[in-house]
Amino acid sequence: MPWPPRFLFLSNRLSIDFTLTGGEGERAHLERWNSPRDLQDWYEASSLALSLRSLGPDDLVAAKELREVLWAGAQATISGSRPGRAVWRALERAAAHPDLVPVHRRGKLGWSPDSTPAQALSSVARDGLVLFGSDLRHRLRECKNPHCRLLFVDTSRPGRRAWCAMRRCGNLEKTSRYRRKRAAKAKQGPTP
Ligand SMILES: [Zn+2]
Repeated sequence: MPWPPRFLFLSNRLSIDFTLTGGEGERAHLERWNSPRDLQDWYEASSLALSLRSLGPDDLVAAKELREVLWAGAQATISGSRPGRAVWRALERAAAHPDLVPVHRRGKLGWSPDSTPAQALSSVARDGLVLFGSDLRHRLRECKNPHCRLLFVDTSRPGRRAWCAMRRCGNLEKTSRYRRKRAAKAKQGPTP
């Protein structure tokens, strides 16, 4: 896999992967959804592996709105409080649409070819509701690299995962620890 990849799927959770695609303010530099086509590609590449026939500009706006809601919910959860009323209501509104319909074709499980963008958003919103509303929320983390801030759900048994991805931030930390050690040693001068 080329690194960094076009889309990041490293959170173990559909609704959180959804937020790792950019956003408002300081997340704008991460933007991966610049066109409806980008969103279409994201759905295909995501854990949904969903092909949506055609997405329009309105679908992109709706997806970005839901992304902000999920981000706000995640931030509240990480800070130890509960998402505000506006977050719950917005998630419930999106989840009130029917979600994606699984179908079995030619020996494979997939989604109905008639799937709509609203169904896809409903599936994402439901995933977020379950995450923020259940004990799973205690496993939501922010990457320990202060310059990264990507979110993930820690599914490791001890629950001590610190990095979004070892390859992305864990290695950075290892390298800087090594550099700090080396600099400290150089200061001390040669050891006899
Ligand atoms: Zn990170």
